[in-house]
Amino acid sequence: MVAPAVEAPVVIGLDVGGTKILSGLVDREGNVLEEREVPSPETSEESVLAALDAAVEALLEERVAAIGYGIPANLERGTGRILNAMNLPLDDVDLVSRSRERFGLPVGVENDASAAALAEWRRGAGCGTQNLVMLTLGTGVGGGIVIDGRLFRGWAELGHIVVQQGGDECTCGGRGHLEVLASGHAGDRAARELYGPDADAHTLIERATAGDDAARAALARIGESLGVAVGSLVNIFDPELTVVGGGFGVAAGELVLEAAREAARGEAVPPARDGVRIVAAELGPEAGLVGAGLVAFEALDGIR
Ligand SMILES: [Zn+2]
Repeated sequence: MVAPAVEAPVVIGLDVGGTKILSGLVDREGNVLEEREVPSPETSEESVLAALDAAVEALLEERVAAIGYGIPANLERGTGRILNAMNLPLDDVDLVSRSRERFGLPVGVENDASAAALAEWRRGAGCGTQNLVMLTLGTGVGGGIVIDGRLFRGWAELGHIVVQQGGDECTCGGRGHLEVLASGHAGDRAARELYGPDADAHTLIERATAGDDAARAALARIGESLGVAVGSLVNIFDPELTVVGGGFGVAAGELVLEAAREAARGEAVPPARDGVRIVAAELGPEAGLVGAGLVAFEALDGIR
């Protein structure tokens, strides 16, 4: 009798956002083999959990060895319990135990920005480093930290670093946080001030790319805020690399990164100052899904 070929395990990754749930089969190298997308239910916790279960069931097959979730939420350190999600009706849910019981597989859960940091570290811009910081500039600002060759599994609310004492109010109730000053919404606001109520961050980036000085200056100011925060992060972690991702961050690219580098060098303490490196993320909109897959492999391998 011929022994069946042993197929390499794959995992199911779920990148759960406020507007959509992206799910897929991911292999150990971080390749997405199959991908699905459904809108996120907004009505109740039950409807979100049902949508997550359906997304897993649609991808379940023999090779699937684990499940990983990236969730826009604060997680309880050590257990991964979801404490409170942003833009999703999830509050105090033990998703790991729930899914483990339901599907009989190892399950991992991580904050979505931390999952994206894991992906960029293992498979993207941060390959080969031992210490990196990632910031995702999207609707809000998120972040993740890799320290001494491991993803930091604690609180990493890097979007809520104070950049401007007494500045504008943040979504969290604080003032002058990075999220107020460097998110896609900050880009939208700057665009509206310059070009009227119909303009948004896309307009700003388009105009800046076409050489419009006012647009370039507005994006440079956003980059400056980003850089001030990165300077503080460099003073704490001295990362080899700071990766900037998220829809807005990647679209704006060098239009914000150039100013960010200069501002970060102004705040970072020497000699870390001389080693400041800020680069754009490489994995694009799939970073969260790849990261969720890698979180599943960490659960499979017992890394926690
Ligand atoms: Zn905040």
